[in-house]
Amino acid sequence: MSIRSVCVYCGSQMGASPSYARAAAALGEAIARDGLTLVYGGASVGLMGVVANAALGAGGQVIGVMPRILMRRELAHPALTELVVTESMQERKAKMAELSDAFVALPGGIGTLDELFEMWTWAQLGLHAKPCALINTDGYYDEIVNFLDRATRDGFLRPAIRALLRVVPQLPSPSAFFTDS
Ligand code: AMP
Repeated sequence: MSIRSVCVYCGSQMGASPSYARAAAALGEAIARDGLTLVYGGASVGLMGVVANAALGAGGQVIGVMPRILMRRELAHPALTELVVTESMQERKAKMAELSDAFVALPGGIGTLDELFEMWTWAQLGLHAKPCALINTDGYYDEIVNFLDRATRDGFLRPAIRALLRVVPQLPSPSAFFTDS
């Protein structure tokens, strides 16, 4: 399957290590370089701002999707190709899902995990067949990956569903990565 847009979930903070911002910038640039549209939460703060600025700086198209209630707290990015304002978090998630052909999470907190895991559970339910990937910068997600392997061993996560979430250290060409899958 070839893809045209990638949804990126990531922290609204920068995180403790500069490697997180480097990973966010590299992904934003790679998405633009591959001619893909970046779909993300629309914020200018934290890694969210970094990924958007990198994609815009590389000449890419960036669509932000932000609920009205977060526009002040997360400072809606002023220079996106398009900013979609929603009335609720649920509407935001649905809109991001609709606009995207693949879902990727960079390092982040519970918002990042909530969003990626919801898309993964939708794949489990057969609501879509779009690929999901976790970028494990510097092993940031190692404990979660261990937990997911335990959940698989213990019979709570089917191996076929576990395989839908691909864990990678970086994603130099999102287009090639998702087209091969
Ligand atoms: P975090 O990873 O916690 O820094 O959150 C990253 C982003 O995810 C936040 O800035 C919000 O835009 C978004 N977010 C947080 N919680 C939720 C949620 N429950 N549903 C959808 N998006 C969320």
